[in-house]
Amino acid sequence: MLPYQTLQEAEEALGRTATFAEKLWFTYSAKKPDYILHYHNTLFLFLFYSILPLPYLFIELYLSKNMDRYKIQPKIKRSIWDMFKCYRDVMLTFVVAVCPVQILSYPTIKCIGIRTGMELPSASEIFLQLLVYFMIEDFSHYWLHRMLHSKWAYQKIHRVHHQYTAPIGLSAPYAHWAEVLILGFASFVGPAIVPCHMTTYWLWFILRQLEAIETHSGYDLPWSPTKYIPFYGGAEYHDYHHYIGGQTQSNFASVFTYCDYIYGTDKGYHHHKKVLQKLKENVGKEVREN
Ligand SMILES: [Zn+2]
Ligand SMILES: [Zn+2]
Repeated sequence: MLPYQTLQEAEEALGRTATFAEKLWFTYSAKKPDYILHYHNTLFLFLFYSILPLPYLFIELYLSKNMDRYKIQPKIKRSIWDMFKCYRDVMLTFVVAVCPVQILSYPTIKCIGIRTGMELPSASEIFLQLLVYFMIEDFSHYWLHRMLHSKWAYQKIHRVHHQYTAPIGLSAPYAHWAEVLILGFASFVGPAIVPCHMTTYWLWFILRQLEAIETHSGYDLPWSPTKYIPFYGGAEYHDYHHYIGGQTQSNFASVFTYCDYIYGTDKGYHHHKKVLQKLKENVGKEVREN
């Protein structure tokens, strides 16, 4: 909620004319209490989880033949019923575990200094903050994920996420409720260390969701804009982690590849890629000779 009755009052406090985005923000947020703005994240969680995987589902169900060359594990197909069960289970986890934590976390959000003021951050501030959040989240996620691959944690918790040896977009948050909370915590570390504006905070969780759905999509699409992000893992990278399953000691990172490179947990993946490349070359040679 903004402490101004009119836009004019807000502009006087700013000491300048409000930008177009700030005017929009004023219109939207001026009368809404801060806790309502914070609870938007819960709404976005349901909304974007329901919308973002749709293109991948459409490809899997209706364009499967044309898009098979981009499917990472083309032999495994999911029915609409499989997808519905995944969606239903994830929604249940959101309602039972994630929503209560998000609602109860409001005082923490206030404490760490997530601001809702009239002055919006610049594009460069948003970019730098998001970059820091991704780096911090990636590092925290890497180690928490490695811990989830210990014998006890895998059997009790992480096994659920690995039920999908060939993941689909909807299965990104398909996991034991404890895992959703443990790995969700990693996403809060960045904003806790470098507090931001509420709009950046929303954007961060939407992008994080978008990234998780893409890396679990099961499709390595060559035109994906993420192909231009340096050190970005992507769908093929994380798919390998699911393909190997519980025994894997490779590709623990969620977004970038730098942690796996530094700690030497990408060797299995690179070996696998080399073997596949050799197989492809041999098949090509045989075709040419015949
Ligand atoms: Zn895992
Ligand atoms: Zn996964």
